[in-house]
Amino acid sequence: MIKRFIRRVLGLESPGPRRVPPARHHLARGSISGSALKVCDVLGGRGHAAYVVGGAVRDILLGIKPKDFDVATDARPEQVKPLFRRALVIGRRFRLVHVMLGPETIEVSTFRAADSQPAEKDEHGRVLRDNVFGSMEEDARRRDFTINALYYDCRSGEVVDYHEGLEDLKKRRLRMIGDPETRYREDPVRMLRAVRLAAKLGLTIDGATRAPIKRLAPLLEHVPPPRLFEEMLKLLLSGHASACLRQLRHEGLHKGMLPLLDVILEQPLGERFVTLALAQTDERVQADRPVSPAFLFAALLWHEVLAAWKAREKRGERRMPALEAAMDEVLEVQSGKLAITRRLTATMREVWAMQPRFGDRSGPRPWRLLEAPRFRMGYDFLALRAASGEVPAELESWWRAFQGANEETRRAMLLPEAGGARRKRRRRRPGGKAPEGAPTPA
Ligand code: ATP
Ligand code: MG
Repeated sequence: MIKRFIRRVLGLESPGPRRVPPARHHLARGSISGSALKVCDVLGGRGHAAYVVGGAVRDILLGIKPKDFDVATDARPEQVKPLFRRALVIGRRFRLVHVMLGPETIEVSTFRAADSQPAEKDEHGRVLRDNVFGSMEEDARRRDFTINALYYDCRSGEVVDYHEGLEDLKKRRLRMIGDPETRYREDPVRMLRAVRLAAKLGLTIDGATRAPIKRLAPLLEHVPPPRLFEEMLKLLLSGHASACLRQLRHEGLHKGMLPLLDVILEQPLGERFVTLALAQTDERVQADRPVSPAFLFAALLWHEVLAAWKAREKRGERRMPALEAAMDEVLEVQSGKLAITRRLTATMREVWAMQPRFGDRSGPRPWRLLEAPRFRMGYDFLALRAASGEVPAELESWWRAFQGANEETRRAMLLPEAGGARRKRRRRRPGGKAPEGAPTPA
């Protein structure tokens, strides 16, 4: 009680939530997934508070179909789990429950407080541990933006709004809860989230929320690489990657901390290639078609690989070993900061290493390439190179035709074997002509 009084005097306590009845907001019950409603219903039946919260409520109110549904409750994970047949307690830092209903997984988290006691922070103010359960009000306050702190009460149909998120949604404004600088220091990833959400949802970042970003950008250096990677992936797969990256540059968030972004945004040579890759990705995401993160990262780094490859060839290294070494070099620089997962880098290497092989269109080699495990991805990559003008369009159309042709046509399509000349050409000769399909020096 006393603690609460002191907090209120200090202005730390909000005046209390606004409960907006169904007739006064645009969130139709029908737009909430049946599974999320069921989870709330089961929890409610046991006397627990349970609300759909976060991105789903925000997205529905903006007329966007949510990716997934999160539920917040006052029940502890060990109370939630036994109520469902298929449920898993996950997370070490903060435990939550994944409830699986049919094909859907609903993430159920217990209300939690971030600042009810001095949290463990690093010397820059980054929160290292915040696993304290709390009240619903505290749960709202530890969330990042006002529009992410809206709770939908499945029983009454009310939207509970602690931080004027509904008003901000109406004004299409992204506003941090609490003091922006403190919140960025606690978790610098919030700067990237601000940019991603603004670009994805078409919102303006509120002045005070935006102001400290440029100055605090270097704090991202202290974020563990896997977390950065996860956030980068969200950004690139948001369906608005081009807009996100433009905004990142605008906010000064691309420099220095993510080598990948430096590369993407500041390489003049690969710009057309990267622009095309991002546009293609955005298009696919928006059309609900699958996107391969490995393909995307391979595309983003291709011109780096090319430059390193060419430099090595110039120094007299042989073609394929030079490419191998160039791939190592580029991935090594990236992984220090970004922790691209091993599974992805393996595929990226396959796609890159396949590229010179497309230049070889005689003998049995085109058939062998068709059988390569990632042929399709390698070919799509070739198509992107052709579209950006890096290799002749004819090379891509030949491969497109070759894939679709029957055996007889394929044989007729083969280019004549250049006899001994081919062998000689494979060896690097200063000033010698590289096989077609080999990239032109960057
Ligand atoms: P999307 O799922 O579209 O990426 P989201 O807002 O749902 O956006 P999630 O990462 O799913 O993002 O997070 C769910 C909710 O958890 C958010 O809406 C927000 O309330 C809270 N949240 C997530 N990340 C943070 C953070 N870094 N700091 C504070 N709150 C956060
Ligand atoms: Mg979400």
